[in-house]
Amino acid sequence: MIYLGPAGIPTITEGDTIQGIKDVKKLGLNALEMEFVRNVYLKKEKAIEVGKIAKDLKVKLSIHASYFINLCNPEKIEVSKKRILDSCEIGYYLGAKYIVFHPGYYRRLPKEQAYKFVKKGCKELREEIDKNKWNVFLGLETTGKKSQFGTLDEILKICREVKGCVPIIDFAHIFARQGGKINYSEILDKVRKFKELHTHFSGIEFTEKGEKRHLVISSNQPIFRELAKELLSRGFGTNKRDIRIISESPVIEQDSLRMKKILEKCRD
Ligand SMILES: [Zn+2]
Repeated sequence: MIYLGPAGIPTITEGDTIQGIKDVKKLGLNALEMEFVRNVYLKKEKAIEVGKIAKDLKVKLSIHASYFINLCNPEKIEVSKKRILDSCEIGYYLGAKYIVFHPGYYRRLPKEQAYKFVKKGCKELREEIDKNKWNVFLGLETTGKKSQFGTLDEILKICREVKGCVPIIDFAHIFARQGGKINYSEILDKVRKFKELHTHFSGIEFTEKGEKRHLVISSNQPIFRELAKELLSRGFGTNKRDIRIISESPVIEQDSLRMKKILEKCRD
């Protein structure tokens, strides 16, 4: 299956998260990434209610955790972990499988040292998640700025070494970080052992430092049609393999619908 949906409550939604989920369904989409990027805005009871509605409507939920995380900075590790864990707890009650976050910034650290910090942080997070029996994956996102920890290879290494961590592929970030180049086939080869993928897609503006801002998808690179073809040729969209593609464009749900159309066209 290919699941599509917006990063955040649709722009057309007048109302709360529940209305947002209903709107996602009404639009013909089936995924929603909830934005806990500034705060975890649901309490346990409400999260259970929202999760039940999403389940009934077959809308797959995930969570984007706080933007204010840096597992590479010893002074920020504890507060970062707390922020991620708050999302994990409420995510569990929501039935959201993936808790997405940007692991941190290298600062002046050698990359291997930054790696060690992120790995240690993830291990400690997993211990806490497992102790609480929260059934969620820690989703480490490929990041868009060169100052950020999170090339695909770094993320995959963490995922190999810490159980319960999975890569979240932000195609636009990879494109921006590589100076406007992307090879979908190579990326999908690297993650072929994951039966289900959770990803982000949008257009993107970038400089030599990497990501500047997310853009509407267009006929410019990164081109969604190229990814769509690659996915379909690899059996995504059948019962064999699943992928969730979250739209992070400024017109979140419209671009999800556009992706849906492009996928349908490529299927014909
Ligand atoms: Zn992100």
